[in-house]
Amino acid sequence: PISINDPIEEHRICVCVRKRPLNKQELQKKECDVVTVPSKCVLMVHEPKQKVDLTKYLETQTFRFDFSFDETATNEMVYRFTARPLVETIFEGGRATCFAYGQTGSGKTHTMGGDLSGRNQNASKGIYAFASQDVFLLLNQPRYRSQNLEVYVTFFEIYNGKVFDLLNKKAKLRVLEDGKQQVQVVGLQEEPVSCAEDVIKMITIGSACRTSGQTFANANSSRSHACFQIILRRRGQMIGKFSLVDLAGNERGADTSNADRLTRMEGAEINKSLLALKECIRALGQNKSHTPFRESKLTQVLRDSFIGANSRTCMIAMISPGMNSCEYTLNTLRYADRVK
Ligand code: ADP
Ligand code: MG
Repeated sequence: PISINDPIEEHRICVCVRKRPLNKQELQKKECDVVTVPSKCVLMVHEPKQKVDLTKYLETQTFRFDFSFDETATNEMVYRFTARPLVETIFEGGRATCFAYGQTGSGKTHTMGGDLSGRNQNASKGIYAFASQDVFLLLNQPRYRSQNLEVYVTFFEIYNGKVFDLLNKKAKLRVLEDGKQQVQVVGLQEEPVSCAEDVIKMITIGSACRTSGQTFANANSSRSHACFQIILRRRGQMIGKFSLVDLAGNERGADTSNADRLTRMEGAEINKSLLALKECIRALGQNKSHTPFRESKLTQVLRDSFIGANSRTCMIAMISPGMNSCEYTLNTLRYADRVK
């Protein structure tokens, strides 16, 4: 239960929802928009009770989140209320994470990565780029300028429990946990960056790498988690880390029957990691001493983000507005509801 008036600054965990507009195909098929956002905190889904006459058998389910964004929200607006409040955290020695969760096609990559390909006329920045911009803005403020901070970025993918470096031709990387319970991705490229433009180059390289060599690019990226990190260091020592994660499509977690062996394995792995993620965020929010981060590679790699006094997390649940996505949309909202 979330009180609508609580300022988000008080929370270590912020959970938001973003509804994308109906797309061209959905409009052509005259698909019904079943999601309404009556205020910035409340969201309603009109669930069909029977599939016969849609308009007659709608049942409304209401959800409350820290923020709900309707189809008119821009990436910049979503950024401002979700990841923006977490940027300071990494300057104060903390760990920040922002997750995009939802069904394939609901807008996770659009929100996180934007479209920097140049193919789209309305090329847009996503949260990766906006967050990087603000990191450099803060870095150049008097109170931080004297601290000799260096900025690095990493970009990697977790597919079927294995880690691949998106800034190094998808090199397969090992994850090690040392005696002090520090988790390390061995050999992960940390690219030094000195301005927001440098970062955009890295995002473009990594995003292209993510979808390269794949005939069904979207189908494949929907089966992996992509993690983009902004790291602050001083004389080599880590000060703060911001992890921005474009999660695997949550419908993939249900790929456990009627599928070939590989797809079933992938589905089980995704399911496991999304469940572990929920439990780790809950543990962080409730200050629990036990965080089940070893349950999946995703949570293991993000271990230090779920512990420590100065860790903050934001989850953005993405939803498609169409009637045909209703079941997945409700699954997404129920998951998001349970995170906090
Ligand atoms: P996902 O990463 O969740 O599978 P995408 O981000 O690839 O989904 O989005 C699917 C399609 O919908 C893309 O063509 C994307 O540009 C478009 N899209 C997603 N969200 C929005 C939005 N808020 N406004 C306009 N188009 C969007
Ligand atoms: Mg995607």
